[in-house]
Amino acid sequence: MNRYSALALLRHGLFRRRWPEALPDREPERGYDAVIVGAGGHGLATAWYLARNHGMTRVAVIDKGWLGGGNVARNTTIVRSNYFHPARRALTDRALHLWEGLSRELNFNVMFSQRGVINLAHSSAQMDDLARRGNAMAVDGVDAELLDRDQLRHRVPLLDTGTDTRFPVVGGMLQRRAGTARHDAVAWGYARAAAALGVHVVQNCEVTGIETRTGEVVGVRTSRGRIGTRRLALAAAAGTGGLAAMAGLRLPLENHLLQADVTEPVKPVLDTVVTHGQVNFYISQTDKGELVLGGDLDGYNTASTRGDPFPVEAMARACQSLFPAFGRLALMRTWGGVVDMSMDGSPILSKTGIGGLYINAGWCYGGFKATPAVGESLAHMIATDRVPSLAAPFALERFASGHLVAEEGHGPRPWLYH
Ligand SMILES: Cc1cc2nc3c(=O)[nH]c(=O)nc-3n(C[C@H](O)[C@H](O)[C@H](O)COP(=O)(O)OP(=O)(O)OC[C@H]3O[C@@H](n4cnc5c(N)ncnc54)[C@H](O)[C@@H]3O)c2cc1C
Repeated sequence: MNRYSALALLRHGLFRRRWPEALPDREPERGYDAVIVGAGGHGLATAWYLARNHGMTRVAVIDKGWLGGGNVARNTTIVRSNYFHPARRALTDRALHLWEGLSRELNFNVMFSQRGVINLAHSSAQMDDLARRGNAMAVDGVDAELLDRDQLRHRVPLLDTGTDTRFPVVGGMLQRRAGTARHDAVAWGYARAAAALGVHVVQNCEVTGIETRTGEVVGVRTSRGRIGTRRLALAAAAGTGGLAAMAGLRLPLENHLLQADVTEPVKPVLDTVVTHGQVNFYISQTDKGELVLGGDLDGYNTASTRGDPFPVEAMARACQSLFPAFGRLALMRTWGGVVDMSMDGSPILSKTGIGGLYINAGWCYGGFKATPAVGESLAHMIATDRVPSLAAPFALERFASGHLVAEEGHGPRPWLYH
């Protein structure tokens, strides 16, 4: 009988027996074969693939806060692979394949829901742009469908497809295999599965220094003592720039605040994800019934998660102009996460000039969707010291050589990056 069965519920509920620990609370040991900094989705996934794919289990994931306290549980949960740039498409589509089997693999329901993602177009030029992107995707076997206004009306009945609106919608592109996943379940799913294979998840343990000797990593200093290791991966999102500086590396990253908010819950009214490029807005409905609204950056460098009211106002305005019926809903809460923006809008998934030091950062607005593929690639890098082909375009050296990975040849284009 499963320990979470009805009988177990009765036993624990009525007789106040202690629940078995979901995740052992670990003290850091003096040394590990590999240390991963950051117990977000990326760090935890890396630990799981290290243990599962490479048999490395003397591994610690350490976090200055608590498991899932970072952006992994602050994002708007959109998962998709509809990129124009081949390198971005390949990495996120690998992730999408892994998402499809993830709940089964981890034996934990990450609530991956392939409800589709629709990008709206507001002019024939944008429609051409989407067609170009869709064709590029199709060439690689990634699914994409163009929708005209009538098809949109049918697929998303509450969307205002009138022609006299502020931003008239002319059509869109649908990726059916895309969708959403339950963000904190992803963190817990990876953490539990990795811990079951022997990985230590150490919370409340801040890395305060990186030790190197003759150009090789030998350990980290933490708020709970020194930990020796010869393989160190930084997967600390907004903390990565500061951590890399401890090893003398200056990364091309800036920290910015990104906010999101939810309305009060209502019955199911939106069964897909809709993104609106003109004003940079995206919306989906959670299983609880809340509408999740996302928008643009606050627009200045910060390390604070406390945001301005203006982006929230902009999201509410965009929501109302696209879905007038949602104007009646109350906003329940807003929150923010500090995102690490790279200079070409693409991540850094790379070895460094320091032996045994690996970096995963710069995911800007869009790292959640890539979580399984990041974990798989970074684990491969740590275990073999070789860069897998999916990660090769995201090397740190590109900022010196000029081989940037910029979607459509532009800098970060917000509406493409969620
Ligand atoms: C509002 C918002 C909406 C978003 N929407 C989407 C979306 O819809 N789809 C999508 O794909 N992406 C989205 N993102 C981006 C996505 O959340 C991130 O790219 C991704 O979560 C980053 O990877 P992570 O989960 O490992 O990072 P995090 O969860 O942030 O983990 C990093 C961890 O490192 C720890 N850390 C930092 N410094 C140290 C240190 N010195 N010592 C020890 N630990 C340290 C932190 O405590 C943190 O727990 C969104 C982000 C935000 C903020």
